[in-house]
Amino acid sequence: TEFTVVIIGRPNVGKSTLFNRLVGKRLAIVDDTPGVTRDRREGSGKISDLRFRVIDTAGLEDATDHSLEARMRRQTEMALEEADLAFFLIDARAGVTPLDEHFAGVLRKAKTPVTLLANKCEGRAGQPGLHEAFRLGLGEPVPVSAEHGEGMSDLYDVIREAK
Ligand code: GDP
Ligand code: MG
Repeated sequence: TEFTVVIIGRPNVGKSTLFNRLVGKRLAIVDDTPGVTRDRREGSGKISDLRFRVIDTAGLEDATDHSLEARMRRQTEMALEEADLAFFLIDARAGVTPLDEHFAGVLRKAKTPVTLLANKCEGRAGQPGLHEAFRLGLGEPVPVSAEHGEGMSDLYDVIREAK
């Protein structure tokens, strides 16, 4: 089966922006099945000559605060099961939040390899968040800007090494 990268993280960190950058117009499936799968999109990702499958865990923005953690956990665990690699995004401009920490706790126990991405790192506004991200215990954060396309060559290296 094709090498699969899943993009996870709390709402608003830039998951869908990264998904769109990696997949472009090669969107394969918009799953309308009720329930958890409704929240995911998958497509064929590409960086330079590297091809892989990408899953965006989306749609949690509509969840109430009460159900958010449970839904995120369930969706994340399901996505991790079929993924070869997880990109865990934080918003470096917002810094590390309690929800990020909650998530990181789940991911530290996962069998799937996790790469921590500090998104929104264009310019200098992400620098404090980038350094804060070390304390999540998921290794060295990779600074990226999904919106501006920065850091994609580092993601290329990460995927190629994991493949
Ligand atoms: P998701 O909820 O995790 O899927 O996040 P979205 O992809 O919907 O992005 C949430 C917001 O962050 C949007 O307003 C994006 O335009 C913005 N965003 C995404 N990536 C970046 C980035 O690299 N830099 C900045 N400054 N904003 C970004
Ligand atoms: Mg989204």
